[in-house]
Amino acid sequence: MATPAAPALSPEAIAALDARFESASPPEIVAWAVETFGDGLSVGASFGGASGMAILHMVAALKPNVHVFVLDTDYLFEETHETMRRSREALHLANLQVYKPLLSHEEQAARHGSALWMRDPDLCCELRKVEPNRRALEGKTAWVSGLRRDQSEGRADTPIVSWNQKFGVVKINPLANWTEKETWAYILENKIPYNPLLDQGYTSIGCYNCTVPGVQGRAGRWSGFEKDECGLHT
Ligand code: SF4
Repeated sequence: MATPAAPALSPEAIAALDARFESASPPEIVAWAVETFGDGLSVGASFGGASGMAILHMVAALKPNVHVFVLDTDYLFEETHETMRRSREALHLANLQVYKPLLSHEEQAARHGSALWMRDPDLCCELRKVEPNRRALEGKTAWVSGLRRDQSEGRADTPIVSWNQKFGVVKINPLANWTEKETWAYILENKIPYNPLLDQGYTSIGCYNCTVPGVQGRAGRWSGFEKDECGLHT
């Protein structure tokens, strides 16, 4: 498959777009991203949180064959798999691709010891999320993600458009300015599928090894560690 040509976006152009979109709505930002990057655009989806579902709905309405990728770490809740199946159908996602780690659960245990997430979650996330994310974005020029500034202190300065050095793409966070309330209003108004665990006390859903209910936001992830990001967005 041919590699999509990277649009010529200088650092100055990216900064100007980022400033311009501060007052734009998420659907307007998504429309610009689809128009600008075309087949070079890729959407990262977790089928865990609410924001990603809203993003999928906005993008798929304009470009049903958009490349959507999900990182299946082997430790996803069954409810997350079920949300993926329902969304594929309801949102007509024609190009949903699943990326798995290079090491199986057993191979990782043999090489790094069992329950790596309890001893070195950064390495576990690197092996099971960051490396597959890199493969998912190979040949792509832009990555749409569902980060919001109100999700955590660490995300308070999330840009809307930026250059992502780690993965070599333009990163777009159309919902950066939206609140949790606005996100849910959009989901309910458009009858978008979402992970049923969000109705059961979970507010941020990742691997079942590292997710606990009853804690607001990303504080429910990696309990016991000074960690609230997996390394994809840092
Ligand atoms: S969230 Fe936990 S189980 Fe999942 S990849 Fe990261 S450390 Fe491993």
